[in-house]
Amino acid sequence: MRKTRYAAVAIAAAAALTLSACGSESGSDSGSTEGAGEKIRIGIKFDQPGLGFKDGSEYTGFDVDVAKYVANELGYPEDRIEFISSPSAQRENMLENDQLDMIFATYSITDTRKEKVAFAGPYFVAGQDLLVPSDSDISGPEDLDGKNLCSVTGSTSAQKIKDNYAAGVNLLEQPSYAECVTAMQGGSIDAVTTDDIILAGLASTDANKGKFKVVGNTFSEENYGVGLPKEGGIVKCEDINAAITKMIDDGAWEEAIKKNTEGADYTFNAELNPPKMDACA
Ligand code: GLU
Repeated sequence: MRKTRYAAVAIAAAAALTLSACGSESGSDSGSTEGAGEKIRIGIKFDQPGLGFKDGSEYTGFDVDVAKYVANELGYPEDRIEFISSPSAQRENMLENDQLDMIFATYSITDTRKEKVAFAGPYFVAGQDLLVPSDSDISGPEDLDGKNLCSVTGSTSAQKIKDNYAAGVNLLEQPSYAECVTAMQGGSIDAVTTDDIILAGLASTDANKGKFKVVGNTFSEENYGVGLPKEGGIVKCEDINAAITKMIDDGAWEEAIKKNTEGADYTFNAELNPPKMDACA
């Protein structure tokens, strides 16, 4: 209760500072705006180990590390980042409704999404795959006939199944991949599909170790972009691309991908990674 009240006071004080900074036209006041600690709002996943994961008040994973690096380059050190959960189905909406400034959430660049949002990047290339129980003989999407498959609403993974393999597959859509894995543990699901790096992260947790395997037969190319509002954003696509390029060139990218896939049975595709930046729209 007390904490909430203090937080409200702090927010009001910050707002007052911001207002006064905006009110005066003098450039020398920009320092006080920064002092108010204006935060950048970054959408990540909260339940994808190795990519975007919330553990108490800590955020970990490759998406988080790239986000922190880029934000810092843009002038937002870690204490000025607010991480916000952005589930697959809500990403476009959250950018369109000004709830986020950027998204680093295993967010594939697609033409359909580009109708609503903009992308910087890509900063990683993954591929769609299947996660199955260790003793399963499913070895690719062709083996899914008559099977129960789980994926996530609003993902390219679910869309690809509907477009190419819908006929014989029973597709169950959940809000997150972690929920799919729980369903598979319960025995009602034969396979989970999404990007290989996400599946490898989920399979490597203490709770899941030894129970599941990633098939290792990818059937798409997923270019992870930095989602941005199409208009009115506070960060520029070009600046993000420059920051990602710097991260790749100085070795921090490689260090981050290695660190975050360490305990997982996963090797990134070295022919496609690290990727070259697309031109900004
Ligand atoms: N990369 C795919 C997508 O953007 C699947 C992973 C996800 O849902 O975040 O839809």
